[in-house]
Amino acid sequence: MSSSQPKDLRLPTPGCYADPIKAGIDADAVFDGMTEHLFFSLGKLATTASLRDLYMALSYAVRDRLMTRYLASQEAIRAKPQKTVAYLSAEFLIGPQLNNNLLNLGITKEAEEAVGRFGIESLSHILEVEEEPGLGNGGLGRLAACYMESLASLQVPAIGYGIRYEFGIFNQLIRDGWQVEVTDKWLKGGWPWELPQPDESCFVGFGGRTESYVDEKGKYRSRWIPSEHAIGVPHDIPILGYRVNNCDRLRLWRADATESFDFYAFNIGDYYGAVEEKVASETISKVLYPNDGTDEGRRLRLKQQHFFVSCSLQDMLRSLEKRGIEVEDFSEHWTVQLNDTHPAIAVAELMRLLIDHYHFEWEKAWHITTSSVAYTNHTLLPEALEKWDLDLFSSLLPRHLDLIYEINKRFLQQVRLRYPGNDLILRKLSIIDEDGCKAVRMAHLATIGAHHVNGVAALHSDLIKRQLMPEFAELWPEKFTNITNGVTPRRWVGLANPELSSLLDKEVGKDWITNMELLKKLEQKENDSGFLELFSKTKLSGKRKLAGYIHRQTGVLVDPSSLFDVQVKRIHQYKRQHLNALQVIAQYLRIKNGVDQDIAPRTVIFGGKAAPGYFMAKLMIRFINGIADVVNADPDMDGRLRVVFLPDYNVKLGEQVYSATDLSEQISTAGKEASGTGNMKFAMNGALTIGTLDGANIEIRDRVGSENFFLFGKTESEIVELRENQYDPKTYISNCKELSEALRLVEVGHFSNGDSELFLPLINSLTGSDPFFVMADFADYLRAQDEVNKVWKNPQKWNRMALLNTARSGFFSSDRSIKEYCKSIWKVKPLDVEISCDIN
Ligand SMILES: *Cc1c(COP(=O)(O)O)cnc(C)c1O
Repeated sequence: MSSSQPKDLRLPTPGCYADPIKAGIDADAVFDGMTEHLFFSLGKLATTASLRDLYMALSYAVRDRLMTRYLASQEAIRAKPQKTVAYLSAEFLIGPQLNNNLLNLGITKEAEEAVGRFGIESLSHILEVEEEPGLGNGGLGRLAACYMESLASLQVPAIGYGIRYEFGIFNQLIRDGWQVEVTDKWLKGGWPWELPQPDESCFVGFGGRTESYVDEKGKYRSRWIPSEHAIGVPHDIPILGYRVNNCDRLRLWRADATESFDFYAFNIGDYYGAVEEKVASETISKVLYPNDGTDEGRRLRLKQQHFFVSCSLQDMLRSLEKRGIEVEDFSEHWTVQLNDTHPAIAVAELMRLLIDHYHFEWEKAWHITTSSVAYTNHTLLPEALEKWDLDLFSSLLPRHLDLIYEINKRFLQQVRLRYPGNDLILRKLSIIDEDGCKAVRMAHLATIGAHHVNGVAALHSDLIKRQLMPEFAELWPEKFTNITNGVTPRRWVGLANPELSSLLDKEVGKDWITNMELLKKLEQKENDSGFLELFSKTKLSGKRKLAGYIHRQTGVLVDPSSLFDVQVKRIHQYKRQHLNALQVIAQYLRIKNGVDQDIAPRTVIFGGKAAPGYFMAKLMIRFINGIADVVNADPDMDGRLRVVFLPDYNVKLGEQVYSATDLSEQISTAGKEASGTGNMKFAMNGALTIGTLDGANIEIRDRVGSENFFLFGKTESEIVELRENQYDPKTYISNCKELSEALRLVEVGHFSNGDSELFLPLINSLTGSDPFFVMADFADYLRAQDEVNKVWKNPQKWNRMALLNTARSGFFSSDRSIKEYCKSIWKVKPLDVEISCDIN
């Protein structure tokens, strides 16, 4: 599967599929391609073209250069049928595409030269223009994007199936310290990376009823008579692997209204009624929901899930038929991965399609389903475990509910055999939650229907077995496994950190980007002060760029030579941005009181969105901004402390931030962060981590060495123990003077212009039940931060530790994760894509 030998990207006979203007990869050809697109696709002259025009022209020219590989990859799987990965995810946070495609094609320099001829000083000005499709909330969606890139780079045939939301995650503004949400109109002005494929549209039903009938062979059957339909129109985004011919696809479904229904209404004269139904169908793919665990828009969310899952499964079945493959052999040609429970309805939908449409017997259909589907669990937080109210579910998906009852009946029969007379275990394992309001438990459906269930880091997978589903794990021990997350080094080092990348190219050779284990060679340089100096210069250069960005965005001037201490991720109580914020107040007080004159100058940077309905998270943003206002305006803090909240954290901004960080804050309550992936991006880029023993932090520390990691905080089992023994945050507050003084300052309104009410809910939560044990971990966190200060004052030591983080983080490449999925869950192999003349 290794693809360490980059292939020659020049077509064997250029002009065979397309003329050089569409396929050539030298600067002349890219320039000519841009010129042609400016004229013919955009209707512009080179002399009057705007930056946006040039961005579009370059994007089209690059897209042209993907097409041969894109089509050849689809042809290869037709010519030589083998298993394809179908990665089902409600979110794909893919980030900007132009820079990634240039890198993977290997034509960044050529593009730089081509845009130069249009009078553009730097390619970065063009890259700036790209709107990123915010089709995800955070980590889970970004993971799906990293996995698609690794699949293509490892030459594995794959399709990512999801939803083409018209509005992605909201854009975040900060006004008077508060988060303000603005709709994300990423499609305005056209987005050049998608190819609509209306000929491959699918019908999806909702609502209505089921009925029994006798078929032509005299067999009793059921069928679903939906009351409503929508059409899914696929929009394909090419995902090119790094320096290979393989170009996989993201296939995102847009919901359209069905013509036939409108037609009827038109005929009876109900024009506006018809338009209303059209609007209703089209709202299905209108907006991405923030993962706030609230009940808002529940019905529409379930609709979205069934919509994209049904389209995707129909698409897979249709592709078998097109290729003359028996549906019976589905699992030899498709392996269906469920990214969390959002697509878990796939278990029932595949059963429905196989039984109702293809007339399979139950056992056969169940065998096909369970040998195709696998499920990744992403969270243990109870509010994030999806449950659908039975009434809602049956009104929207009545046939699926019948099938789920049958799946459940047969499953519980198995449980009864194993645990005779144990009714408690039946209630615990049933797909239907009978406690309180009856509901469908999607994690149970996914677990029962999947051949593998995996967690996303060692601790998390262990907690799934020990805490979340111990009975399932006892029933099927071989089903449960771990695959620790990873991130793609192409985007997160190659694109995000060009200067470090060149240094690595020179030092260990260019292959590190597809074989991160090669970075181990850097260990030999740990005492080479000349090299450490070069290494730290790449960091300083990233920090200078970020400092410029911070100044432009927030007006705050920060010193690039100060310690850049960064916490960027969704804002959530379990991620504990408030722990970090309180620590900043303690440092502020030390400086104010002249306690520690020798304190290391720091720039504390926060970034992240809060779900619009999550009051406490929004208050945390206001809290950070309140602290920033006071600190940054105080002359005593000059040259010592700066606090910045970077608005609108997304992939594009992440590329600037991860590479410009000295200290990575990974401070979640132990047991709460399933894995984290930001932690990996930071470590690869040579940031040191201050963190708890949570998620993948544990594995990062194991690999980079405990001496190169600032550990603090209670362990998962200590947290459990505290919770079980009437945890009282007040004892921790009274035992830590710096903590009680920091809290006191907040209470009196020091960070809210004297308003002592504003942050009261936050203070009350921390001093009352403190559900995330912020108070319990504070003192140890402060101790670890002091350790950070001490090491920072010894640059040689700091740089050595940072280098060893980069050298030893190869394990966290998503290439490693994907190889594990391929081997132990999917059983898929790479496929060589030959570029030959026959495909056009
Ligand atoms: C990596 C990433 C995340 C996930 O960050 P965590 O620290 O793992 O929560 C969220 N958002 C964006 C834009 C990312 O790139």
